[in-house]
Amino acid sequence: MTEARILVVEDEDSLAETLRYNLEREGFGVTVAADGRRGLERFRAERPDLVVLDLMLPEISGLDVCRAIRGESEVPIIILTAKDAEADKVAGLELGADDYVTKPFSVRELVSRVRALLRRSRIGSPGEEEVLRGGPVELDVARHEVRVGGEPVGFPPKEFELLETLLRRKGRLLTPRRP
Ligand code: CA
Repeated sequence: MTEARILVVEDEDSLAETLRYNLEREGFGVTVAADGRRGLERFRAERPDLVVLDLMLPEISGLDVCRAIRGESEVPIIILTAKDAEADKVAGLELGADDYVTKPFSVRELVSRVRALLRRSRIGSPGEEEVLRGGPVELDVARHEVRVGGEPVGFPPKEFELLETLLRRKGRLLTPRRP
């Protein structure tokens, strides 16, 4: 498998270059975009395997970029948040970001989170052609497609994830999570 391509959307040059240097050294392909508008452009042009997204960005805010990407793709997103911006972090996760790191962070920590997310997103990635079934419902994991009686039906990302979880656990007892 070729190494993953990562889009870094970050307007602080020094941090962006530090991330590029370290991620490339780990063998990833890296594209850097310095504002939200270019971040979305690069995302649409390159379809990266993972996005590292600063929330405080010029042009289009990180939260709006996150929302826009999530409307188009299930790509893993790690948001970068400021220490005093708890509300942004929560908003980002609610918009569908998969993970976050709080600035200032260690690059090693970020790299390990990148690896963990890529591992997760590659379970059932193309090549395995994994299809989960439950009655007339088929869920094509690689293509992110739900079919009922063979016909594709539109499914929002959150509901897709929920259905995937349910189908994977089929036959196992679901217990409520303890508070
Ligand atoms: Ca910033």
